[in-house]
Amino acid sequence: MKNSVAKPRPLPSITLRDVGGLGEEMKEEILQTLSTLKEPERAAKLGIKPPKGILLYGPPGTGKTLLAQAIARELNADYFSASGSAFNELFVGVGASRVRSLFHSARKQGPAVIFIDEVDALAGRRKAHGGEEAEKTLTELLVQLDGGHSNDGILFIAATNRKDMLDEAFLRPGRIDFSFHVPLPDTKGRREIIDIHSKGKSLAKDVYASLDELAESTSGFSGAELQSLFETASRRAVQSGQDMIQRHDLDYALDRTILGSTSRTLQDY
Ligand code: ATP
Repeated sequence: MKNSVAKPRPLPSITLRDVGGLGEEMKEEILQTLSTLKEPERAAKLGIKPPKGILLYGPPGTGKTLLAQAIARELNADYFSASGSAFNELFVGVGASRVRSLFHSARKQGPAVIFIDEVDALAGRRKAHGGEEAEKTLTELLVQLDGGHSNDGILFIAATNRKDMLDEAFLRPGRIDFSFHVPLPDTKGRREIIDIHSKGKSLAKDVYASLDELAESTSGFSGAELQSLFETASRRAVQSGQDMIQRHDLDYALDRTILGSTSRTLQDY
């Protein structure tokens, strides 16, 4: 059993305000969902069951992990995280026992958020997924999700780029109660994310004045790419001995990011 799967991770102080581009409607929906977890008695009086599982799906780098961390913080819960691929084992029973151990540790701790990224590696459609071991591991996950009570203080959050690959049994309400689409940000969303990642960085006046334009011109960029844009520009400024990001640093970073995503696309497909 890899300890890393079952130990709570120290949670960075991420709040919902650190996740840009969610849109008012989605934020409202998330807050409503969380309020049923924070006040289970009140929710019960209203006949509402707090969710046991939430799915976040959308392209890479759009903030699904960030959102899971913000939710854990909002709930004041311990945060257990693992990648779906950490459960793929050739040895008999190891994947299933990892799943059991993860839920066991979280239940002992409670309240806790269990976050599984790349959940398609663990909960992919059984037929396509193949392999007896993978099937046993998925069955154990379903058993664990069914074994929990909606008010036992455990929230399961799964993330994927491939919702279409997930097994239908996994997606059933009572296991996954809400699915949130986390898309690539639109212009307004990119502007929010640019604000988040440029905050605390010294920007030359013309850079500061061009942030609206930057949001307009970065269509197709993910939050992760926008974050990397400002990191690259900062590093470039430091390298050239400046104490502020200048327009040419940002242009350099833009070129690098665009090149980076082009080569990634070429490699991937
Ligand atoms: P993947 O599907 O590849 O696992 P993800 O959707 O989980 O990606 P994150 O790991 O949350 O994406 O994003 C990586 C980093 O990019 C974050 O730590 C953050 O710095 C930045 N980022 C991504 N999306 C956002 C966002 N919506 N708002 C603010 N920052 C973001």
